[in-house]
Parts: sequence; C-alpha cells; structure tokens
Amino acid sequence: MTTRRIRVKEVAAPSADARILAFEPADAEPFEFEPGQHVCLSTTLNGEKVNRYYSIASGPHPAGRFELCIKPVADGSPLGEHLARIAPGEEFECSAPGGTFRLTEPLRDTVFVAAGTGITPFRAMLRHLLAGPEDRHQGRGITLIFGARRPDELYFRSEFEQLETQRPQFRFWPTISGPHADWTGRRGRVQSHLDKALGNRRDSTDVYICGPRSMLDDVRARLTASGFDEQAIHYEKYE
Ligand SMILES: Cc1cc2nc3c(=O)[nH]c(=O)nc-3n(C[C@H](O)[C@H](O)[C@H](O)COP(=O)(O)OP(=O)(O)OC[C@H]3O[C@@H](n4cnc5c(N)ncnc54)[C@H](O)[C@@H]3O)c2cc1C
Repeated sequence: MTTRRIRVKEVAAPSADARILAFEPADAEPFEFEPGQHVCLSTTLNGEKVNRYYSIASGPHPAGRFELCIKPVADGSPLGEHLARIAPGEEFECSAPGGTFRLTEPLRDTVFVAAGTGITPFRAMLRHLLAGPEDRHQGRGITLIFGARRPDELYFRSEFEQLETQRPQFRFWPTISGPHADWTGRRGRVQSHLDKALGNRRDSTDVYICGPRSMLDDVRARLTASGFDEQAIHYEKYE
C-alpha cells in the first residue's frame, strides 16, 4: 500500500469525546480523493504499529488539506485514544484515499442516512454537490437524516442548517434518540424517518447509508422488505 506522511494542522472538539482533525500532507504533492472515500491512518504506539480507517469529511482543497471526524469507542484501539488527545504538529502515515462508497451517476433524488461519525462521507458529498457556486445536483432533492444520541453529537450541525437555508432542494433532518429534554426537533432513530423522507419518490431515489452495523443492517432490511431497488442502496459499514 502506498503511504504518505501527513501532519495534524488543527484540532476541534465538537463534543467531549469526538475530534475534528484537519491534516495536510507533509510533502508538497497533491492529495486527491472523491467524496465518500476513506483513508487508513497508521502510527507506532508503544512499539506496535496500529491503524484504522476513517472517512474523509471535507471537500477537495488546493493545498491537499483534508478533515477527519473521529470518535473512539469504549475499550477501543490505542490509536483511537491517541487521536482523541492529539495536538497540532504530529505526523502519521496515511494510505492513498480508497473505497467504493461514492456518489453514483447519473445523480438522482438522494436520501443520506447517517448515525454518529457516519456523517463524515456525507459532509464531503454535500460539499461537493451543494456548497460550491455551481449546483452539481441539478436541482434534485437531497435529504440528510442524521441521528445521534445527544444534540452535541450532531457533528457539523450548524453547517447543515446553514446549507438548508441556502439551498431549497436540501432538507436537513437531525434526530435525537436519547432523552434530551431541551430538544424540540425530530426524535427516535433514523429508521423511523426514512419512509417520510422517501415520500412518493421511492422509484427515483438513491439511498446512501453510513454508520454502525445495527443501524445500517436495519435500514437496508426495511428498504428491501418494502421492495426498494437494491441497486439504489449504497452503504459503508464502520464496524
Ligand atoms: C471504511 C471505514 C470508515 C470509517 N470512518 C470512520 C470515521 O470517519 N470516523 C470514526 O470515528 N470512525 C470511522 N470508522 C471506524 C474506525 O475505523 C474505528 O473503528 C472507530 O473510530 C473506533 O476506533 P477505536 O480505535 O476507538 O476502536 P476499534 O478498536 O477500531 O473498535 C472497537 C470495536 O468497536 C467497533 N466500532 C467501530 N466503530 C464503531 C461505531 N461507530 N459504533 C459502534 N461500534 C463501533 C469495532 O468494530 C470494534 O468491534 C470507519 C471504519 C471503516 C471500516
């Protein structure tokens, strides 16, 4: 596997345990990827090489800068713990961007379904489709159903809310599954909002799903049980 050296440029903490890490290549070569792709980060900790996959959360950048959004799990790897405490300047090895989780052509109406850090590839796709001056989605409808236990785990929330006010074809549907008293928006798991998001456009919609296995398997099972075209279901599993 071809690897590059990359350096942490900035660290942000959207919630107590998640980090948004901005990296730049340590060399001057461009860093090219398609929205939806991931990288494999590796380093040596306590004499052992550790690596994990992470989806790229940002759109293309002329200097090759890119962002990851990571949240270590309880009893996870030393790399997850290390990334949660990282400071700017540290270097890692990084694979070339890879994976087949990408937007399919021709573009159709689209429903993105994300839970937790599963939002990351969709942020990259939305930046590609909607954030630039040109409308790459040619006016087709896009709904993002984004589930989290708590509002602070709705990573990039303000950005999606702003995008919704700027692009009439984009609907942002955050949903909270935990008992959060102040939350007045959608509640429950992402699955419970899927039928409404598809509406009467099931035959002309692609559904993209990303996140933990249980959510992903359930969304896929619901779609196929209702006769939804399997070719129009695209997914990336995080575990
Ligand atoms: C293609 C791909 C892209 C990924 N992109 C991201 C990303 O953008 N951000 C990110 O934080 N993680 C991402 N992951 C998961 C990531 O590789 C790590 O597994 C995760 O960050 C937890 O890391 P850890 O080192 O704390 O624990 P690990 O040792 O990696 O995992 C410990 C256990 O938790 C499970 N697990 C991993 N992720 C989850 C999850 N979300 N929910 C429940 N259980 C989980 C693992 O399967 C394992 O059984 C991706 C995984 C894949 C395969």
